[in-house]
Amino acid sequence: MTNMSAAAAGPNATYNFKVVLLGEGCVGKTSLLLRYIEDKFNDKHLTTLQATFLNKKININGKRINLAIWDTAGQEKFHALGPIYYRNSNGAILVYDITDEDSFGKVKNWVKELRKMLGSEIVLIIAGNKIDLEHERTVPLEEAESYANMVGAKHFYTSAKLNQGVEELFLELTQEMVERFEQNSQTDLNRTQRVLVVDDEAPVQSSCCTGSKTN
Ligand code: GDP
Ligand code: MG
Repeated sequence: MTNMSAAAAGPNATYNFKVVLLGEGCVGKTSLLLRYIEDKFNDKHLTTLQATFLNKKININGKRINLAIWDTAGQEKFHALGPIYYRNSNGAILVYDITDEDSFGKVKNWVKELRKMLGSEIVLIIAGNKIDLEHERTVPLEEAESYANMVGAKHFYTSAKLNQGVEELFLELTQEMVERFEQNSQTDLNRTQRVLVVDDEAPVQSSCCTGSKTN
């Protein structure tokens, strides 16, 4: 069990944010994370990430931010990702594969669930991944963008493979989380500290994606 806190006050504050990756199996969640953290890409589906989350430290305008980015261990394939995974999240990246309409439908389900369970506190970013496969696109561009607009989420196109849009996505998400956090501290002056309690979960072994992207 890990305890994290984010103190809003003071110029030396460090912001600790929890971010979850959500989306159907094989849309590229783990690939986006590994691209962002390690600048690597693997053609194979990466079944297990050893850690439940990876940390990334960034600085924006002198603010120190520590992101704990949670990736699934493949539980999404068994429809077994519940509130334990996303609770206390400050942000969520909802990933779909632009060549897979079902995966976009799954994003819509996640948006509904997150808004219902966490309200507007959580910052949502929708990522249309695999834009290097633009010629195979099945999710219409306008539909994805207007949907994101409607639910108050920013929309990004990414390719973990070609390293496109990844850095930008995480930067935008982080900036929005800082803004959101500062707004919340202002509206609730009594709240000087926010404690996020995060559980370590044992990774579930799974295999997928060999030959098929439907899960
Ligand atoms: P996850 O199940 O959502 O974590 O998906 P993975 O990150 O394991 O990726 C599933 C498959 O899609 C793997 O074969 C990856 O190499 C591939 N993949 C991930 N991102 C991209 C991308 O941007 N472009 C292409 N062409 N393939 C990708
Ligand atoms: Mg994965």
